[in-house]
Amino acid sequence: MIIVLKPNAPQAFVDTLTKMIRSKGLQIDVSKGARKTILGLVGNTSVLDTEQISGYEYVEQVVRVDAPYKRASRAFHPEDTVINAGGVQIGGKKLVVMAGPCSVESPEQIEGVARDIQASGATMLRGGAFKPRTSPYSFQGLRDQGLEMLCEAGKKVHLPVVTEIMSADKIDLFLQDNVDIIQIGARNMQNFDLLKAVGKIRKPVLLKRGLCATIEEWLMSAEYIMAGGNHDVILCERGIRTFETYTRNTLDLSAVLAVKQLSHLPVIVDPSHATGKRWMVEDLAKAAIAVGADGVMVEVHNDPDHAWCDGAQSITPKMFDGLMQSLRQIAPIVGREL
Ligand code: PEP
Ligand code: MN
Repeated sequence: MIIVLKPNAPQAFVDTLTKMIRSKGLQIDVSKGARKTILGLVGNTSVLDTEQISGYEYVEQVVRVDAPYKRASRAFHPEDTVINAGGVQIGGKKLVVMAGPCSVESPEQIEGVARDIQASGATMLRGGAFKPRTSPYSFQGLRDQGLEMLCEAGKKVHLPVVTEIMSADKIDLFLQDNVDIIQIGARNMQNFDLLKAVGKIRKPVLLKRGLCATIEEWLMSAEYIMAGGNHDVILCERGIRTFETYTRNTLDLSAVLAVKQLSHLPVIVDPSHATGKRWMVEDLAKAAIAVGADGVMVEVHNDPDHAWCDGAQSITPKMFDGLMQSLRQIAPIVGREL
């Protein structure tokens, strides 16, 4: 349930009302907008007399929210959420472009790619150190060393970094190394203990959509993180599994529109994992921006044919430069900047 207060509601009224609600065993999230204050109530709201609260002098509206996610719901927070990640704003007018290799392979490789993508205008550096691989015999990532290499490269080119975590016992290491966004990969979208653990910290989280997750399940996973107090969640559509086998996954661009309607959280699109095909990446990145995504994440490798992971979907730095030029053309058409 949400309670929308009138713009002139005095603080004393807000305090009395929130105290009364909390005394009934409910939790409240207060969202202070430019004009209005909204109280988001979580818990068994049937104990409240909705009619009576609607009649209070400073209450504008009382709405029951049917969606099982509350903090992630746009009803709780009508304005778009803008998240600051290492100085980069995500969800505002300016688009975010996260780029880099699937996995960190050496200091030279990650620094080289970092310099190239920075020169082309990328706003964040990505690179996997802990890799979730289908086969236990495949390269699993350079782990702690890889993380250090990525963060060093990010520092050298002055780009914030985003990288995937696979288990909660690495959170301290990610915080020590100053990772700017912690990525929860598609395979871990419903690893609820991991979601709860990143909910307790104050670091932006990039939550990729699970391979077979519905939009509601995806938003419920965001809710897990937010319920812990960490409201800085960025969603990433990266393709879902369908009967189609031509592409690695099926990019669900309609999910961007749906999530923008249902939630206030920023949404980005990863056309690399969605398709598995290098030649589709640029056009789908353009499409993502055209439908209203707040940015994209793309895999870029200095030598894709010899990449240790996901070479077929990785674009070269030169292709990335072309992609950035295309996005610069699309951005103003949809009222965005790059
Ligand atoms: C990745 O971004 O490197 C990754 C493994 O992505 P996903 O979780 O979407 O498969
Ligand atoms: Mn990859």
